[in-house]
Amino acid sequence: MSSDRIKIVWIYPDLLSTYGDQGNTIVLERRAALRGIPTETVNMRSDEPVPQDGDIYLLGGGEDRPQILAAQRLRNDGGLQYAAQRGAVIFAVCAGFQILGHEFGGEEGQPVPGLGILDIHSGRGQTRAVGEVVGDVSAELNVPRITGFENHQGATSIGPGAKPLAKVISGIGNGDGSGFEGAYAGRVLGTYMHGPALVRNPGLADLILTWAVGRQLPPIDDSWAGRLREERLNAVLT
Ligand code: GLN
Repeated sequence: MSSDRIKIVWIYPDLLSTYGDQGNTIVLERRAALRGIPTETVNMRSDEPVPQDGDIYLLGGGEDRPQILAAQRLRNDGGLQYAAQRGAVIFAVCAGFQILGHEFGGEEGQPVPGLGILDIHSGRGQTRAVGEVVGDVSAELNVPRITGFENHQGATSIGPGAKPLAKVISGIGNGDGSGFEGAYAGRVLGTYMHGPALVRNPGLADLILTWAVGRQLPPIDDSWAGRLREERLNAVLT
């Protein structure tokens, strides 16, 4: 990024927007604006090429078949892999998280190749994970306890090239028996948390913005965001 202006690319609103994760885009725009940082958001449909000059790329969750189509199109495009190589920030939720990995399970459990951006493998789990999830985030990320809503059949294992985003306190998370939720490597981060995740977890939103601008951001008044967050944490943990 040449100056404090952030280009956000929302990937495939036509395929990966069934779970409300587009709210993550709005939160990033708003939290950047409160720091006086302008943003430009591109809603990139699946018949369009992935822009090469994004600072933050966002992927949401999706149903099994649109997820497979999204993975095929992103693989053929190659732009997201390129963005990862040049150090762009990528934040992906659920189906989008699985797509970043080496492979994931299709609607019949068949292995579907992903993008290989994140060292994770996903398959089809025995049961569907539906409900609230809470986790304590990896200490090096310096983000408070995360809260979200999960709804997935996929189970995800993390390879040596990535680290767990969080340790599950309540809920299922990655569902591979590890007790972990999400994964990250460099500035690429994935999670099973809907909610949308960045609405519920302003600390995670600020981590992503900090990665994008390359500097610490001044704190802002989080009393309203904090109320939702506290309500959900209390509902699950008490
Ligand atoms: N179809 C995927 C699964 O069930 C992703 C679902 C989602 O994005 N919520 O694992």
